[in-house]
Amino acid sequence: MDMTFSTARSIGDMRVEPRPACMLCGSEGHVLYESLIDHQYGVPGIWSLRECSNTRCSLVWQDPMITPEDLPLAYKSYYTHAGHDAFGPENIWSRTFSLLDRLMAKLHGLNAERQRFRQGFLDDRPPGSLLDIGCGSGDFAATMRARGWAVRGTDADPDAARDVAHKHGFQVDVGEIHDLAYPSGSIDAITARHVIEHVRDPQRFVRECWRILKPGGRLVLVTPNVASLGHQLYREHWQGLEPPRHLFLYGRNTLEQLASASGIESAEIFSTAQGASYIFRSSERIRAGRYDAAESWPRTLLQYWLWQSREIRSLRNGISECGEELVLLADKPVRTSLHAAGNRIFAPVNPEQQLRRRMTACSA
Ligand SMILES: [Zn+2]
Repeated sequence: MDMTFSTARSIGDMRVEPRPACMLCGSEGHVLYESLIDHQYGVPGIWSLRECSNTRCSLVWQDPMITPEDLPLAYKSYYTHAGHDAFGPENIWSRTFSLLDRLMAKLHGLNAERQRFRQGFLDDRPPGSLLDIGCGSGDFAATMRARGWAVRGTDADPDAARDVAHKHGFQVDVGEIHDLAYPSGSIDAITARHVIEHVRDPQRFVRECWRILKPGGRLVLVTPNVASLGHQLYREHWQGLEPPRHLFLYGRNTLEQLASASGIESAEIFSTAQGASYIFRSSERIRAGRYDAAESWPRTLLQYWLWQSREIRSLRNGISECGEELVLLADKPVRTSLHAAGNRIFAPVNPEQQLRRRMTACSA
């Protein structure tokens, strides 16, 4: 048993509290990383992550964890950076990267997957009302509106919400989903792309999404995959960790447990390499300790091009837990089945996705 308990009361300018036990299974966690820093936005502090010691669970979480009151401080420079070029000035290597990336996406047939992500995994759904939680730049919701959806967004930051509403002309509600008190069964589709890893009480979050979803509606969650090839290769430098803003990191099992504990009886969960190029590129910059610098290493470019290629080939060959992102699709039943209540079955949504259901662990 790991008896290391944190005693720190604050890290950087944020108050923190100890989180020694797993929120899903109650087991103790062991320290996974203990000297993480924020390469991306420079929030001060040294951060630790714990991993659940129950091998059937393996949830990863921040410990000590930032208090709810001080959590907004982790985003101080996040919003002012919104919309800036994450990869610094364009140069010959960044242009080469983009070219290789487009070529590889074509060669590996990745474009269909990227297209599906851009359409919010709602491409098989007729347009209706869509709530995009944590709508960021608003570009995704605007794309969906152009496809016929009646969109609305949420954001925790009032300035960001106002800017998006001004730029795109749709409503952006400010606050946490449970504070916004949308009516039950009122929305056809809810998307939360790269949001759940930032949420301090994920069960409450998912339960609230499920409550406000219409019967027959779809919940779409996208989050970094802690079991991905990229995490195994880059370890503490993996972009998906994003300290200190990512409070929980999920694998397929833990996302499934979270859904089940939040009252979702049936969901499809799979990993995808659609965003691998961004994650590999970012991780490489973090490892090199030069996140904001222009790219200048052709050898490194080639290396992560090859790794991304390996991830896509692994996914195609049925090693389906390799992808950098996890996707959860849950369609709310039109009528609650009496038999379903005690019988939580995680079934594929459609046969085309059945192939990806075979989740096989990947090893670097
Ligand atoms: Zn656990």
